[in-house]
Amino acid sequence: MSAELPPVRYAGRPDAVRAALDGRTLLVSTPSNIRWLTGFGGTLGWVVVAPHRVTLVTDGRYEERATADLARAGVDADVVAARTRPALRELLVATAGTSGTVLAESAHLSHASWTDFAKDLSLGPDEGTITGLRRVKDEGELARIGRAAEIADAALGEVTPMLGEGPTERDVRDELDQRMRRLGADGLSYEPIVASGPELAARPHHETSRRPIVEGDTVIIDVGALVDGYHSDMTRTYVVGEPTDEQLELYALVRTAQQAGLDAVAPGVAGQDLDAACRRVVEEAGYGDWFVHGTGHGVGLDIHEAPFAAKAGTEDVLVEGDVVTVEPGLYRDGFGGIRIEDLVTVTPTGCRRFTHLPKDSPCLPSRPTT
Ligand code: ZN
Ligand code: ZN
Repeated sequence: MSAELPPVRYAGRPDAVRAALDGRTLLVSTPSNIRWLTGFGGTLGWVVVAPHRVTLVTDGRYEERATADLARAGVDADVVAARTRPALRELLVATAGTSGTVLAESAHLSHASWTDFAKDLSLGPDEGTITGLRRVKDEGELARIGRAAEIADAALGEVTPMLGEGPTERDVRDELDQRMRRLGADGLSYEPIVASGPELAARPHHETSRRPIVEGDTVIIDVGALVDGYHSDMTRTYVVGEPTDEQLELYALVRTAQQAGLDAVAPGVAGQDLDAACRRVVEEAGYGDWFVHGTGHGVGLDIHEAPFAAKAGTEDVLVEGDVVTVEPGLYRDGFGGIRIEDLVTVTPTGCRRFTHLPKDSPCLPSRPTT
């Protein structure tokens, strides 16, 4: 997994943002938006996108890194730095200060910072300018997400045989963590979720516990790697030992629902319709109230980003270049849970999958005999 990845095309991004701003100034505070715009991977900074100039304002400790990151990204922007918090604030205000309105990212900037900056700047809310531009991934971004997915695939493939050996959920999580790093991940997308047995696997947002995994359990494993800032996201479900008829039946149902979701992905499809494609299968089988979350979400520099696929609360419509999960699940106390999640990118005619770990059966693969 050491092949060179194609570059992320940063250079045109400031112009794309400026075009969307139509002469206004934008104060960017969301770290993932700063990274998308400039390649700067540090956590402390702001970017001011003004009509004729892009400026990264950062803490003195990050100045060298910021300059290097921007040069590597090929982004034409100035870097200015200050050493103390008050000096940093003054520098930011001076950089953003114009006679007109400065748009700020209201979904990210804290109320306290907003109130503080508003003493010196005429602030207005920005309605997700960069978030919208970020949705469509370029070749370099898709390659990073693909590499992250390959790493998670490989790590989970290596770890699944141990599920039959009586580990605790945390043992499995820690093993995934180490293997992903060893396979070349820069970090984890999120702490792997390992949810097992009749109660814990029934909780879609379970926190991995010290529970030992035993015969008869359904085990949901949700895992993603991080490569150069980009995330992956995948879930597989296993049954330890011989599955019961009910486990097999419900597994097949989730598998069918998930395939219906994958088949529905295409440009122009509403997130609500993608959700409905999965949900319909589950509802027709009489398990509608076991499917307690949305079908999918976008993935990129953030693990949850637009587009969203759910029954309500989203107006997103898929476009080519989106990266989105398809992850129906069934949960019931006393039974446990089953979720299957793949990560795909939207292509002109449908989708291309990043996650390839087998999912046709919930049975544990046996250890390779080499
Ligand atoms: Zn997931
Ligand atoms: Zn997910």
